[in-house]
Amino acid sequence: RGVHRFSTAALIEEPITPPVQINHTKLLINGQFVDSASGKTFPTLDPRTGDVIAHVAEGDAEDINRAVSAARKAFDEGPWPRMTAYERSRILLRFADLVEKHSDELAALEAWNCGKPYEQAAKSELPLFVRLFHYYAGWADKIHGLTVPADGPYDVQTLHEPIGVAGQIIPWNFPLVMFAWKVGPALACGNTIVLKTAEQTPLTALYVAKLFHEAGLPPGVLNIVSGFGPTAGAALASHMDVDKLAFTGSTETGKIVLELAAKSNLKPVTLELGGKSPFIICEDADIDKAVELAHFALFFNQGQCCCAGSRTFVHERIHDEFLEKSKARAMRRTVGDPFKKGIEQGPQIDTEQFEKVLRYIRSGIESKATLECGGGRLGSKGFYIKPTVFSNVQDDMLIAKDEIFGPVQSILKFNDLGDVIRRANATRYGLAAGVFTSNVDTANTLSRALKVGTVWVNCFDVFDAAIPFGGYKMSGIGREKGIYSLHNYLQVKAVVTPLKSPAWL
Ligand code: NAD
Repeated sequence: RGVHRFSTAALIEEPITPPVQINHTKLLINGQFVDSASGKTFPTLDPRTGDVIAHVAEGDAEDINRAVSAARKAFDEGPWPRMTAYERSRILLRFADLVEKHSDELAALEAWNCGKPYEQAAKSELPLFVRLFHYYAGWADKIHGLTVPADGPYDVQTLHEPIGVAGQIIPWNFPLVMFAWKVGPALACGNTIVLKTAEQTPLTALYVAKLFHEAGLPPGVLNIVSGFGPTAGAALASHMDVDKLAFTGSTETGKIVLELAAKSNLKPVTLELGGKSPFIICEDADIDKAVELAHFALFFNQGQCCCAGSRTFVHERIHDEFLEKSKARAMRRTVGDPFKKGIEQGPQIDTEQFEKVLRYIRSGIESKATLECGGGRLGSKGFYIKPTVFSNVQDDMLIAKDEIFGPVQSILKFNDLGDVIRRANATRYGLAAGVFTSNVDTANTLSRALKVGTVWVNCFDVFDAAIPFGGYKMSGIGREKGIYSLHNYLQVKAVVTPLKSPAWL
């Protein structure tokens, strides 16, 4: 049925030329743009067409070695951990201001490389990036230890020291925002960094790293290696001279890097992994608002969000009206060139993700969920997928269990709170949840019962710099953003001194 009525999405036309030039495609090591040791490059693609945008230096183990040596030297001998925290803070602020100045170009580059709507990158992701650096600049000179009471005649202090060289591996769905979540707190604490970008989206990190050096960041403090997971990523995770690892990506890869870290030097690891987040719409909800929010919760960023509200649980009493309206909303969604004004949805990131999403759609149909609208590709080139809605989804179907990472909404029916709490928690993931209700008791009950790192009540995807983010269960280890992220990048040293000692002159 709805499949044939899907006609309201914008047609996919000739791609609009992005208003930005690509100036940086090499690796950034010790403050210099350099070729990879092997001389190899790899193509980075335009998701609108699958065409090559640029060839980028391909880093592997040898380049990770070079970058880690630079970061080590910058940490052990360089000015960054030794300057005053106020000076560090000033550099972070200057950097944020430079990014703000270049934010139109950066938003264009992010949209071009990721396929995300330009307006989304410009109006929400770049401002958030700048905000995150202002936030962590504010922390830089407020990090300090404690005076600790002792049982004996001792003066005991804790020193909060930077950990050293941080290895950071990020995914392709929010390249700049993920950069900020990782780099902001690590630098505020005085660490040095080797960051590996996702192979799909290497461009914006190189651009902002250049700006960081213009802002006064000393060489070797932030090194960027573009490259692939099993080569560059694995080399970073297993490097003996990396003191801390932070990873965002899939749960499967999270397990691999955790093992590599354990088998090498037992470096501490934070992981931000996948999710299958429930969005629970109670019978007392304002249906129109709930439809819009549930639509946003799933379809935002082409459905490529780790915290996407990908199981829409709706109370049986309002289910049918909610479903009709959700379907109508999905069919009104404007899909097209990310550079066109008013576009809500661009293409998926690459062929692999595109094929994976289409496979899940086929699996939904085969498992007898009802395809309400969408269900296939849009246009004949690039990686566009029609906004898709399934109803009659059962908990044991693959589309209700696996992370689809695409524009596919699954609507499930529930009848009471106990039922929906049990089913919402019956997953290996625990990243986030949405709750929509006008009853404060229901909001309190659900937000305490759900085993997830974030509960958004009558809102979704609120990502302020100060709000911690991370997962329960197999959605991750540790928290990023806010004050919690500082703990990922600090060592605590206890210094114990006798109050009176014959050694004191
Ligand atoms: P992925 O795990 O394949 O890739 C993520 C990063 O890990 C990339 O930089 C990649 O090159 C690197 N990598 C891959 N194999 C590696 C290896 N063997 N050793 C070291 N590094 C390796 O993930 P993906 O499928 O490209 O990205 C989507 C996934 O990321 C989704 O599952 C999504 O939920 C997750 N994600 C989670 C969050 C979060 O905050 N929890 C945020 C964004 C994305």
